[in-house]
Amino acid sequence: MSKVKYYYDSESLSYKKIERKKRTTFKYASFFILGCVFFAFIFVFIASQYIESPKEKALKRELHNMQLQFELINKKMAEAETVLANIEDRDNNIYRVYFEANPIPEAQRKAGFGGINRYKNLEGFDNSKLIIESNKRIDILQKQIVVQSKSLDEIAVLAEEKEKILAAIPAIQPVSNEDLTRMASGYGMRSDPFTKARKMHWGMDFTAPRGTPIYASGDGIVVRADSRSSGYGKHIRINHGFGYTSLYAHLYKYNVKKNQKVKRGDLIGFVGSTGRSEAPHLHYEIFKDGSRINPINFYYGSLTAEEFNKLLEHASLENQSLD
Ligand SMILES: [Zn+2]
Repeated sequence: MSKVKYYYDSESLSYKKIERKKRTTFKYASFFILGCVFFAFIFVFIASQYIESPKEKALKRELHNMQLQFELINKKMAEAETVLANIEDRDNNIYRVYFEANPIPEAQRKAGFGGINRYKNLEGFDNSKLIIESNKRIDILQKQIVVQSKSLDEIAVLAEEKEKILAAIPAIQPVSNEDLTRMASGYGMRSDPFTKARKMHWGMDFTAPRGTPIYASGDGIVVRADSRSSGYGKHIRINHGFGYTSLYAHLYKYNVKKNQKVKRGDLIGFVGSTGRSEAPHLHYEIFKDGSRINPINFYYGSLTAEEFNKLLEHASLENQSLD
């Protein structure tokens, strides 16, 4: 109950009740309410700066957890980067070198993404830096993996090709020669068995009794098995591909026909003395891109280093060839 207020009226010389107008009351009430609301706002605003609501606390915890997870992911990415760097290193310095491919430059492997800013939508937040850096890192990692994967595809093709080349090129001795005593004459200047003049001997002679088996020295196709080349007598030519051809001359008998596919080690014919030959032997030649080369360098498939040295010694003796 509010106090009743009076005032002294000098005209009537009496106290009179102060009548408050309704409008004035309403005005005061409005001021009071506005004031309350204003202070309430100030209070809530200040309180919100220093006091966290349970929801905020939960969000903060979640954010903190997220940051932790990001850091963990970054650590895992660092591990993945190390493993990948190791693979790239082996790729450049072992695999690609072995298969004669150029190494992939570091700059090409780690190239970023030039031009447009791919991370624009991630900018403007408190944790933008963390998120953008992580994204960049994983994008580069992803690209590196693609480059590495392509490189390995290339290596796989080269390896397959190399395997074919290795199987194809002449790499064994064409006759069984375990004690290496069958080498009669090597590639080089030799005295001719018929004229005794010094002349170039374009292949290797292996002495062996008539009928000794002759083996294909690499995979290929028989392109000739006839006696229509002067001097060679009955002879076989095998095309190994990749520019290589091998020739086996003075045969007694054939074991293959023209156009027949052969594998390294297949029995293709037998030693004889047909054509321009002094005694039963196999005259063996290797052609690379049409030119004759020294067959001594092609026995790595079947000889140890010591055996090779012994053969090399025999082959370099300047004796008389059997032609
Ligand atoms: Zn010869």
